[in-house]
Amino acid sequence: MSELNPQFIYFDLDDTLLDHKKAEQAGLADVHQHFDVFSDIDLDKLVDVYHHINKGLWEEYGRGEIDRHILHRRRFEETFLELGVDAALYEEAGKVYMNYYRNHWEWVDGAKETYYAIAEKYPVGIITNGFAETQWLKIEQFGFKETARQIVISEEVGVMKPHPKIFDHSTELVGVDRENILYVGDSPTSDVKGGKDAGWQVAWYTSNPVEPASELADLVFDDFDDLLNALLN
Ligand SMILES: [Mg+2]
Repeated sequence: MSELNPQFIYFDLDDTLLDHKKAEQAGLADVHQHFDVFSDIDLDKLVDVYHHINKGLWEEYGRGEIDRHILHRRRFEETFLELGVDAALYEEAGKVYMNYYRNHWEWVDGAKETYYAIAEKYPVGIITNGFAETQWLKIEQFGFKETARQIVISEEVGVMKPHPKIFDHSTELVGVDRENILYVGDSPTSDVKGGKDAGWQVAWYTSNPVEPASELADLVFDDFDDLLNALLN
């Protein structure tokens, strides 16, 4: 690990600043309650099947094989089919899920205070893999429009992290040398490997540091106070 000395700091959004996993889990619990067809099916089962199917679809989306409309449709259609419940409900389930999911967005513990303290001392930005419509709603709701100088969303760039194009584009936007940009993120591949391959400094937010990402990262932290101390001391 080496000392952080950035001139610009980009943050990942989902599961770094905002708790996507918790909101997803709560949204699925609401879907489970909403539809009578799930009365004989455990919530854990629904969550497991959904995660498995959603992950595969995101990989297909990342390879450019399907678009977001197909991803949104198939993740509930295939989940319902695999669980043996009425798959005709999938369209309604997708809408119901998005409404519930939005109601459960929250900051990750400690992230808000650290983000605002850092944003007072450094120019900051956001880079996120996700759908523009959803990510812009988060950005507006949590005040990132007022604090982030650059906001980069994969759907608008046309590739997802860790594709070098999204990091090169983000480097060009800020006009500082790549080695002076710090990326703060939770994904060992999208954020740590992607950021290091781009020549950036990387701070990895994780409670489970494993190689090779733990060796690549300039800072590994699981408490936002540690990031704050590394940058403001
Ligand atoms: Mg993330």
